[in-house]
Amino acid sequence: MPSFEELGLDRPVLMAITRTNYVEPTPIQAQAIPVVLDGKDIIGASQTGTGKTAAFGLPIISELKPSNRPQCIVLEPTRELAAQVEDQMNVFSYYKPLNVVLIHGGVGYAHQIDAIENKPDVVIATPGRMLDHLEKGNLDLSEVKFLVLDEVDRMLDMGFLPDVKRIIDQCPKSRQTLFFSATMPPAIQTLANWALQEPVAIEIGEGHSPAETVTHAFYPVGMDQRDDLLLELVKRTEYSSMMIFTRTKKEADTLLPLIEALPGTRPAALHSDIKQSDRTKALQGFRDDTFNIIIATDIAARGLDISGVTHVINYRVPENPEDYVHRIGRTGRAQKEGDAFTILTADELDNACAVEHFIDQKIERRKLEDFPYQYTALLEENPQPLRKKRPASGKRRH
Ligand code: AMP
Repeated sequence: MPSFEELGLDRPVLMAITRTNYVEPTPIQAQAIPVVLDGKDIIGASQTGTGKTAAFGLPIISELKPSNRPQCIVLEPTRELAAQVEDQMNVFSYYKPLNVVLIHGGVGYAHQIDAIENKPDVVIATPGRMLDHLEKGNLDLSEVKFLVLDEVDRMLDMGFLPDVKRIIDQCPKSRQTLFFSATMPPAIQTLANWALQEPVAIEIGEGHSPAETVTHAFYPVGMDQRDDLLLELVKRTEYSSMMIFTRTKKEADTLLPLIEALPGTRPAALHSDIKQSDRTKALQGFRDDTFNIIIATDIAARGLDISGVTHVINYRVPENPEDYVHRIGRTGRAQKEGDAFTILTADELDNACAVEHFIDQKIERRKLEDFPYQYTALLEENPQPLRKKRPASGKRRH
């Protein structure tokens, strides 16, 4: 693996790296940094937790010189991801007089307008609010040199694609574009063909493989006992921090008081109907251990750099196997051990098989000792999947 010095980054960025705990580049950084420094576009199959942010952030900061116009735009699907990328960009630009600004929805305009008037060099944004500012004439993208489109498939899921296209349209053609997406359905391929020029393809991580340090288990149960089993599982698990993923916002809201009633739990919920200040509080509180459990929909599953999660529990089997990998990407990060438990009911057997197929691994079925199980065929040794049509891919709920 080459060292950061050997990759061609400038001195201020190399000094900034000494302020992080990075010792050597991750494989994606070793691949991407020279390509970005060489002025080429990138199309990356992105996997979270691989150091992707630094893979684009370090070389971009290295290339930028202070100016009075936005030179780099990074689009992120969620506010949390945007805030996380802003934090990292601030670290990378510590020794350069560059102005990094965060723009996302859910908060007032006044503060953002002040920040824009302060002439940012780098703007990290969610697409909707960025477009608002463009339409109001607050922002001018005509001098943009770098455009980063991150987690594009998630932006597509969230209906941001038209906004993203309109933002790209306002950037100069001569820009350099870095495009990251975990999956490449046709709509995204079309966008990539349109937005990129002779991109270098970079594969980040193994694609389908969750961290090897994660232990997986399915807990089969009858549908009526899903909540009881979850509560019992939480009670019996020695966790220091846990994420519980639900399929819907309503499920997350319903579970919150049930989990709260258990001894020793300090839970918070995280989903898109919760107001931004509370979402930030939930995440911050989870990081500093005010909360030891987060109950979240998939909005929290992608990319968020929450380290040291000891347990992930899926309240339901995700409908898309990629979501399983993203969810359990919260645990077992940076070689730390983690456990991923998934509650499994009969109607989800096909989804469970799809997950096993996707990660190319058979997941152990476990029973909780002395739990008052009601009969379900799932508890037998070799249950057969229900003959149910798999949902069409791309159809996700948040
Ligand atoms: P990301 O994939 O960008 O979300 O990064 C995942 C985590 O890896 C973050 O906590 C980064 O700070 C960390 N990280 C990124 N690059 C390195 C590196 N070269 N060495 C160690 N940790 C890193």
